[in-house]
Amino acid sequence: MILENSTKSQLLAGNWKMNGMRKALAEIRALGRGVAGLKRVEVLICPPATLLAEAAKLAEGTSLAMGGQDCHVEKSGAFTGEISAEMLRDAGARYVILGHSERRQYRGETDALVAKKVGAACTAGLKAIVCVGETEAVRDAGQAEQIVAGQLAASLPDEFEANMGPEELAVAYEPVWAIGTGRTPTSAQIAQMHCALRAALSARFGAVSAGIRILYGGSVKPDNAAEILAVENVDGALVGGASLKAADFLAIIHASVQNA
Ligand code: PEP
Repeated sequence: MILENSTKSQLLAGNWKMNGMRKALAEIRALGRGVAGLKRVEVLICPPATLLAEAAKLAEGTSLAMGGQDCHVEKSGAFTGEISAEMLRDAGARYVILGHSERRQYRGETDALVAKKVGAACTAGLKAIVCVGETEAVRDAGQAEQIVAGQLAASLPDEFEANMGPEELAVAYEPVWAIGTGRTPTSAQIAQMHCALRAALSARFGAVSAGIRILYGGSVKPDNAAEILAVENVDGALVGGASLKAADFLAIIHASVQNA
């Protein structure tokens, strides 16, 4: 079902990256307890693959969802070290983050590869969170909107409209210069970028695009979450460092709930 804008709950997604030994499962337990009864917010944790199945089991019966941080384009085969979307689904994931700037930067992932991964994720029944964002040089050159809109268009498969519903998609706007740096754009800059992304989604998908959530990501913390999550067209957040501790992430989640 495609949600209308007015009924769309915010999505707060935690990206644990390459962090989390088994003892971090205590944070999943604490989050599961902490989100009990919360309305108008969806909470997701994307732990490292080593913890995914156990974390998903711990989250059963809670409103906490689990996701992967990447997937391969193929379903299975001779791809040592890789994980398919089907495997993530089988381990209990409902979402997968794709095209994170760290994968674009360190693993050379292109928009075209990200688009194939989006197709693979949707085929496996996973919702894709597609990350886009400009570097500081691009922002300084006044090209942020143009570059990010282009990245989004090229990171979605051509057949997306025909084969998959836009409800299977979320977009994360993550300025590269804000990730892990403690720096954030101003609310006006976030509003401008989210408005541009909303317009791009609307041009591609029409009215149903109102149901696609656009998350902001980059140094979201308990002390700036309320302001960021209140910005127009911000439908949630993708949170790295501050999602590792349940107490910090719950403070961000409560900022969303209070805004709702
Ligand atoms: C991220 O990596 O997606 C992210 C937003 O990280 P941080 O919150 O730590 O800036």
